[in-house]
Amino acid sequence: MKALVYQGPGQKAWTEKPKPALQQPTDVIVKVTKTTICGTDLHILKGDVPAVTPGRILGHEGVGVVEAVGPAVQNFKPGDAVLISCVTSCGKCTNCKRQLYAHCSDGGWILGHLIDGTQAEYVRIPHGDNSLYPIPEGADEEALVMLSDIMPTGLEIGVQYGHVQPGDTIAIVGAGPVGMSVLLTSQFYSPGRIIMIDMDASRLELAKQFGATDTVQVGAEDPVGKVMQMTQGLGVDVAIEAVGVPATFDICQKIVAAGGNIANVGVHGKPVELHIEELWIKNITISMGLVNTNTTPMLLKTLRSGKVDPARMITHRFKLDDILAAYEVFGNAARENAMKVILSA
Ligand code: NAD
Ligand code: ZN
Repeated sequence: MKALVYQGPGQKAWTEKPKPALQQPTDVIVKVTKTTICGTDLHILKGDVPAVTPGRILGHEGVGVVEAVGPAVQNFKPGDAVLISCVTSCGKCTNCKRQLYAHCSDGGWILGHLIDGTQAEYVRIPHGDNSLYPIPEGADEEALVMLSDIMPTGLEIGVQYGHVQPGDTIAIVGAGPVGMSVLLTSQFYSPGRIIMIDMDASRLELAKQFGATDTVQVGAEDPVGKVMQMTQGLGVDVAIEAVGVPATFDICQKIVAAGGNIANVGVHGKPVELHIEELWIKNITISMGLVNTNTTPMLLKTLRSGKVDPARMITHRFKLDDILAAYEVFGNAARENAMKVILSA
């Protein structure tokens, strides 16, 4: 089969690899029909995730059709249409029983990381019963690809950990696919005001179409001064960091209101300076985490009922064979006005 293979920092190839086979009785082999590229794949290609070794097939998002199941698989059979979760989980260990699937003792985020991923014609999914979801009849498969990773990430680590409440004023720093997922899912809780902060004017424009009430363009405006002015000096109830650099965490520390929450979603490669000397007296809660995908069943229902339409994030479509061209577009997102790309087999 063909697959997108990481060959060391800065190097990748769309090349021939052996088709995956069942290894464990709980495995499912999925024929990938649609997949996408994540900012995390770009981090891996830069060499930022050393656990990914040369030869690894990338990708942790997608939908497909079940090709084969191990003898212990009960929920799926060949021919079933499935959504692949970015997090693999056994469903039985101590952490899985707490819905902390990200820390499954035999799973977590392993796809396209510690085991071969979804940017291929076929993928092996361990613990298939708990790591795949049946696709409802008539569902928009492209929209579903957004449920593999970015939508649960935005909802769980941004909105739920940040305790967004009806009427709240919230700020989302970073208008990439993850920040946009925070924006879409925060609206389940009816915040009164949603301030989107980024330096990319076209992303901010898109954010307005997705429901942001205000935007602040970093570079052209002082984000902290602008948000404090907008909120009569009070700050925001929830400040959500969706970039992963010290500067954006710092914005969140400076704009959070007394009694508020800072929800960090971004993956940081460097330490941040924690201003505990200013935050303690303001009764601030700080949260962070790796997506568990425990909200996937709920997101499937909201998609089905039309409460949310993550397909709006898709800006480009390619054939799976043209994945190198898709990487070129996604890797130059600002220049190409790209948000999410879909690759179809
Ligand atoms: P992205 O790179 O596509 O988007 C980041 C956005 O931040 C861009 O629009 C960029 O213009 C903006 N930005 C960069 N520097 C800025 C600054 N100084 N001020 C304001 N805006 C700035 O990334 P993404 O795919 O949306 O992911 C966002 C973060 O979420 C990444 O760090 C990613 O690794 C992380 N992530 C976390 C989890 C989790 O489980 N916690 C899961 C998936 C992704
Ligand atoms: Zn487990």
